[in-house]
Amino acid sequence: MRRGSSALVGCLLLGVAGGGCAGEGASIALEAIQPSALDAHLRFLSSDLLQGRAPGTPGSETAASYIAMQFRLAGLTPGIGDTSYFQPVPLIARTAFAVLSFRAPGGAAYSPDARLESVVWSKDTAQVSSVDVELVFVGYGVVAPEYEWDDYKEVDVQGKTLLLLAGDPGGHVPGRFRGDTATYYASADYKFAEAARRGALGALLVHSPELPYGWDAIHGVRAGEQVTLDRERADSAPRYSGWLIQGAAEQVVSMAGLDFATLLESARSAKFRPIVTDMRVSASVRNEVRQLAAANVVGSVPGNDPELAREFVIITAHYDHLGVGEPVDSDSIYNGAYDNASGTALLLCLADAFARLRPGPDRSVLFLALTAEEPGLLGSRAFIQSPLVPLASIAANVNIDGVNLWGPTEDIVVLGTEYSTLRSAARHAAAEEGLRLEGDRSPEQGYLYRSDQFAFMRAGVPSVLVGHGLDFIGRMPGWGEQILAEYIRTGYHRPSDEYRADFDLRGAVQQGRAAFRLALWAANTPARPAWSGESGFVDLR
Ligand SMILES: [Zn+2]
Repeated sequence: MRRGSSALVGCLLLGVAGGGCAGEGASIALEAIQPSALDAHLRFLSSDLLQGRAPGTPGSETAASYIAMQFRLAGLTPGIGDTSYFQPVPLIARTAFAVLSFRAPGGAAYSPDARLESVVWSKDTAQVSSVDVELVFVGYGVVAPEYEWDDYKEVDVQGKTLLLLAGDPGGHVPGRFRGDTATYYASADYKFAEAARRGALGALLVHSPELPYGWDAIHGVRAGEQVTLDRERADSAPRYSGWLIQGAAEQVVSMAGLDFATLLESARSAKFRPIVTDMRVSASVRNEVRQLAAANVVGSVPGNDPELAREFVIITAHYDHLGVGEPVDSDSIYNGAYDNASGTALLLCLADAFARLRPGPDRSVLFLALTAEEPGLLGSRAFIQSPLVPLASIAANVNIDGVNLWGPTEDIVVLGTEYSTLRSAARHAAAEEGLRLEGDRSPEQGYLYRSDQFAFMRAGVPSVLVGHGLDFIGRMPGWGEQILAEYIRTGYHRPSDEYRADFDLRGAVQQGRAAFRLALWAANTPARPAWSGESGFVDLR
């Protein structure tokens, strides 16, 4: 009862400018988002039967069939032609066997340990061998005109191996970048791509102990089999890439007669210029390759307005996880209950809700369950490469990656609202649900760039990630932060991220209702959502 009346008050106060308050129709549709429905989807998708849903495995196929079946049950239109809910996403899996060594001018040599000190891979299908290539230190390896920053200056790095610092200079250089908030320039993908565009043969990132992610996290993701799109852009990475722990980088640099602390200091200045060392690098990478067949699952609710129906709001959640891997406490199934069976469960409830909505949304709403997010947003990038609908007709992306499993909150966290007019949608949604709207609480983690909304952002689509609140009702202040930190430490990307009978899904319902209202606002607002000036992303229109 309370929820209904506060929603009504929210609508009256806000004046219903964007068309977000759809009134009774929305209330009836929202009945689809219930703890029982969420629990049923979550229980199945995160069960051991699905073996952790790694792309290209039978478990993943079963998950995709289940999602398509739920779309069909809800009455969604198949997204592909007239009959199919599946968009094929061809992938390649490579296992790299790498040998890396450094040689000083005097002849001294050093090979970092391939488990504890380094990890090296190649996107090439063919074997990569290079002998005695020059090593060049390029600072952060960032070229960002908007921050008046260029680490490369005009120095030619063609055919060289680059040594780069992780992160961006923001935390160390007052007034540049966004302080401790990570920008896109802090991402490894950006650095490797920039190195490739400059013709570098190899790029090695330095893992500093200060980074918010540990060496095990890097090694866990980058060692062993790596999955990429079958048709990866040639300039997405140099012929070989890798990471070194800082101790290994210090060793290499000192063999070159340089001091790592001094290099670090010089990299924190806009005047920095690449330093060509007299160290030589030899690298050899051989790949074992296999093809994987994966798929995105797509269904839609057609728009009601004859004009606006040609535009699309896309609601996304990745359904893949890490599959079966190294056992932890004798459990080898990485179930990914929170990450992201929970988001997929919510996507299914949202699809059901939109299918029940009368009258329907003005714009069409596409429901997209994405594969292969974990290896690098591959499902969303494949969708952007072949978007099924014209890219310029995509009005907004609303992504869900992780759903509240711990009870009701007073707030709701939406990431990315500072960059587009979807901030109004988020404000309406929060007000209608009686929730306090919050932004990113740990911007240094760069979460905005780490899930599928980022593939849409890069393609020019105004996008948000609808997270969940952390201010739990009836709990001590700070309890939510503690729970999440505990999850990151003991559950994230581990077999223990699994279904528990004591999940409290009332907060998930809040999150789902807010996501529904946000997406509905985006679908019904007469003026299309748009980027705001300082987003750094180009609008498609
Ligand atoms: Zn995820």
